[in-house]
Amino acid sequence: MPEVPRLSVRDIRKSFGAHEVLRGISLEARDGDVISVLGASGSGKSTFLRCINLLEVADSGEVWVDGEQIRMVQKGGRNRPASQKQVDHIRAELGMVFQSFNLWSHMTILQNVIEGPVHVLKRPRAECVEEAHALLKKVGIGDKANAYPAHLSGGQQQRAAIARALAMKPKLMLFDEPTSALDPELVGEVLRVMRALAEEGTTMLVVTHEMGFARNVSNRVAFMREGLVDSMGSPQEMFGAGASPAFRQFIGHFQA
Ligand code: ADP
Ligand code: MG
Repeated sequence: MPEVPRLSVRDIRKSFGAHEVLRGISLEARDGDVISVLGASGSGKSTFLRCINLLEVADSGEVWVDGEQIRMVQKGGRNRPASQKQVDHIRAELGMVFQSFNLWSHMTILQNVIEGPVHVLKRPRAECVEEAHALLKKVGIGDKANAYPAHLSGGQQQRAAIARALAMKPKLMLFDEPTSALDPELVGEVLRVMRALAEEGTTMLVVTHEMGFARNVSNRVAFMREGLVDSMGSPQEMFGAGASPAFRQFIGHFQA
């Protein structure tokens, strides 16, 4: 039987008013794929991720998560998810990590991590607490379980956000510039955690400007330009002689 992709996006389009931000994006992630999504600011990377987890609704095209298509209906001339129940279920299968951490500030780190498993997945609290401690240890902040987010550094907060996403045992992790808001000296600790996840076989879609990560950790690189996937390939292909001229120009900006 052919393997079912963890994620399959087929020709999605999205406009804000007259501005067509996604102009037909297709991409597939198989089990264990780590795909770096690169592109200039404004090229549509965040909108693309947001259309996958339904923070935005694409105007057309298909999104499939682990073999299940997100069903859409036209309502009032606009595309909408057909079932909120399906949206909730799909979202629970996707871990999302944002640039700005987005931890709940009034909850301790432990409470942040167990919130989803306890309240969304309705799993036994004691079991979730035990798993949460293991996850916090894994991301290197085992001693911060009872601290509030404000008392952690940015790098620690982002690692807590990764632990929170992992607690849902997602089928796919989506990262939107997870290190862009961090002071330079804190970037490495977050990238190390992401590299460890990649090496364990976690399927990941990572919007990033970290060329080292794209080159050395991901197995595929997609370059977005003006709402389209300009080019996609292995790091060897993308960073090698055959790269598209637009991508070569883009990475030129990162070379000192
Ligand atoms: P990137 O993440 O690659 O920087 P974005 O997906 O955030 O790009 O944005 C792509 C374009 O879409 C930008 O021109 C941005 O201003 C526009 N855009 C994004 N979200 C909205 C929105 N909610 N309403 C209107 N325009 C938006
Ligand atoms: Mg963005």
